Amino acid sequence: MTSEREKVKVLIIGSGPAGYTAAIYASRAGLNPVLYTGPQPGGQLTITTEVENYPGYPNGIQGPEMMEDFRKQAERFGTQVRYGLVTAVDFSSHPHLVTVDDQHTIEAETVIISTGASAKWLGLESETRLNGRGVSACAVCDGFFFRGQDVAIVGAGDTACEEASYLANICNKVYMIVRRDEMRASQIMQKRVMSNPKIEILWNSETEEILGDEEVTGARLYNNVTHETKEIKVSGFFVAIGHQPNTDIFKGIIDMDENGYIKTVPGSTRTNVEGVFVCGDAQDHVYRQAVTAAGTGCMAALDAERYMAAKEMA
Ligand code: NDP
Repeated sequence: MTSEREKVKVLIIGSGPAGYTAAIYASRAGLNPVLYTGPQPGGQLTITTEVENYPGYPNGIQGPEMMEDFRKQAERFGTQVRYGLVTAVDFSSHPHLVTVDDQHTIEAETVIISTGASAKWLGLESETRLNGRGVSACAVCDGFFFRGQDVAIVGAGDTACEEASYLANICNKVYMIVRRDEMRASQIMQKRVMSNPKIEILWNSETEEILGDEEVTGARLYNNVTHETKEIKVSGFFVAIGHQPNTDIFKGIIDMDENGYIKTVPGSTRTNVEGVFVCGDAQDHVYRQAVTAAGTGCMAALDAERYMAAKEMA
């Protein structure tokens, strides 16, 4: 442990596509960034299997492998990738103070937040066991693997409706599992799923178990009005019950919306705190793709670089 505070120009918090892309740009700009990986090095892509929609990989690539490539590319230009958890931040003065693992405090001229978001899960043992074997929290990422097949999706918000419609374009049939007798989604999204002949809505239904040993073969559902259980046969099971941005440590310190997504100055990655930038899913509940996260990671590094250049000139 160091007693003297370490000083860094660019501190990047989080190691998904956004964080690593910011690191690639910042290190190539000679800013010697330090990146802390957070609790899940590589981020959400490390819990997916094949990624087929990231440009530049014509044959697809496994999510964990892709994130290894991102890390190596960032390290090649001098990024220090460190395993550690940012446990506190103090943005009230400049340089900003960032504490890692409750013990090591760093003075950072700029901070790039790329802590991402985590999908919410139902909490079933079978859901964890079959994750990546038919269970997924991203229809846009994984729907294609189930083309022509029957699938199910849980949830009744805008995301679930959007993903059900997306799946209906690819799959043979989509069961939409809704726990109440109404949906939370906007009217227009509800209408879209209700009028789609390939989507069957199962109202008042809760998932008791996702079925299958090696891969998903179906699901057992409980109807909370009739108290009956029934089984459906599906090979894909999508969970779309919301995401949680990983922004708890910034609460009360930085402006965010009511769901915890950090607000940016439109058209930039700037936050309301000078010298603090945000990219990836921590600020995006709409697109949430690896490629869009990477795009905003690039923006954050450029914004940080320009911020420092302007400060030096001032
Ligand atoms: P939401 O929080 O809006 O909806 C979550 C849904 O999941 C609800 O229907 C909820 O049911 C259901 N749910 C939660 N927990 C469980 C559970 N354990 N079992 C079964 N069902 C469960 O999340 P979304 O991701 O859909 O949307 C997040 C935000 O992003 C919203 O503001 C939304 O409007 C926005 N968005 C906008 C889009 C657009 O404009 N194109 C697209 C996608 C999202 P219940 O209703 O019973 O609580």
